[in-house]
Amino acid sequence: MQHIDLLMIGCGPSNLSVGVALEECTEAHNIRSSLIIEKDASVCWHRGMLFPEAQSQVSFLKDLVTQRDPTSRFSFLNYLHKSKRLDSFINLQTFNPYRKEISDYLQWVADNLEKTQVVYNSKVTEVLPELTPEGEITGWQVFVEDGECYRANRLIFGAGRDLNVPAVFENVSQDNVIHSANFLTALEHMSSQRINNIAVIGGAQSSAEMYQSCIENFPTANITMIMRSIGLVNYEGSQFTNTLFQNDYINTYFNCDNTTREKTLTAMHTTNYSGVAPSTLSELYRFHYLQDMRGENRVAMLTQCDLLHAVDDDGGVLITWQDNKTGHTHSARFDVVLLGTGYKNKTPTLFENLSNQLDIEQICVDRNYRAVLPYAPGVSLHLQGVNENTHGIADSLLSVLAFRSKEIIDDITD
Ligand SMILES: Cc1cc2nc3c(=O)[nH]c(=O)nc-3n(C[C@H](O)[C@H](O)[C@H](O)COP(=O)(O)OP(=O)(O)OC[C@H]3O[C@@H](n4cnc5c(N)ncnc54)[C@H](O)[C@@H]3O)c2cc1C
Repeated sequence: MQHIDLLMIGCGPSNLSVGVALEECTEAHNIRSSLIIEKDASVCWHRGMLFPEAQSQVSFLKDLVTQRDPTSRFSFLNYLHKSKRLDSFINLQTFNPYRKEISDYLQWVADNLEKTQVVYNSKVTEVLPELTPEGEITGWQVFVEDGECYRANRLIFGAGRDLNVPAVFENVSQDNVIHSANFLTALEHMSSQRINNIAVIGGAQSSAEMYQSCIENFPTANITMIMRSIGLVNYEGSQFTNTLFQNDYINTYFNCDNTTREKTLTAMHTTNYSGVAPSTLSELYRFHYLQDMRGENRVAMLTQCDLLHAVDDDGGVLITWQDNKTGHTHSARFDVVLLGTGYKNKTPTLFENLSNQLDIEQICVDRNYRAVLPYAPGVSLHLQGVNENTHGIADSLLSVLAFRSKEIIDDITD
């Protein structure tokens, strides 16, 4: 069993940012070895939704480090400079790089870390605490799919949130129900099949992008988007509400009572979750307009609908829903169902057993993202990207990484 001082699960932006903070922190003498374990063969920013033309929704200045240290060699600007694309990027006249570009930047950062090694093709399947008879955690055992096991003192989770699959699809064959996280990988397989009817569930950005992609890739199929809302809406993104994505807002939010936090998150929903980028929205509206002009209706959006149930049906899925505008119930069979239903806002499955083992109701984190658990000295667990309820709407985004990563490193090197 390999022993590591600092072990990080998932090589996405969160842990890469911690890797950068560690690289640039001269006080971290207690961290002699640091490792990131990644399930895939490379670093990729949301592989399933990496459309060539899709752009990031936040400024390139909100990269892994710039807000904390604009002089860092790990900045997005330095990546562009090293890739000899800085001039062309400036000429693009945008703050929003292509997602593909951010993805390549992340791989570049991973390749250039000197204090942290990245191990690929290693999916973490289980995390076990090492406990004294008094219930104090003295270390962690981290198990990987291929049978490898690591022992660590410090553990940082950065493997993203669990997929949200609506309850009606829980008992349906997963071959025909594809979450947006797996969309582009599944599309290759779908393209070789006869697909006549596609359902896209949800009314936000991921659903809109999958809907648009299906319109292009399946030019003869019927495509139906089913959503609860009254219709697609633009992201809300005023400069004023954007201040709630800034790191200095986290203290304000963290110190609010639960009711205020919940109200704030609800009010912020269209700034991130239930909105669609204005460019995507107008392209889709134009498509519908032209379709109407041609007197066709193969592509349709069904609004204000609640899903009632879904069952396997002759190699496809039969979905029943209620249209709340009329109160009528409808059923239709689809060859494939695409879920733009987002991610779960809760403790990751990987740590669910921990609550039982330690006999605590729920794992909570403190302001520095440290899970509040009975640790022996020098041992800790930090959770990233799953603390929206306590740290606010920006917790799962790039916006706060430059600061959060340093806060975590400071917390474990104190
Ligand atoms: C389509 C899409 C577009 C987005 N666009 C933006 C945007 O424009 N701006 C923005 O700020 N945010 C955006 N986000 C939010 C996004 O969550 C964050 O930008 C960021 O990716 C979060 O980083 P993370 O490292 O916490 O998680 P992730 O990016 O999800 O990375 C997690 C990593 O862990 C790996 N992993 C998962 N499970 C395991 C396991 N068991 N073992 C080992 N490795 C594992 C994954 O393969 C992945 O590499 C977007 C999200 C999506 C889905």
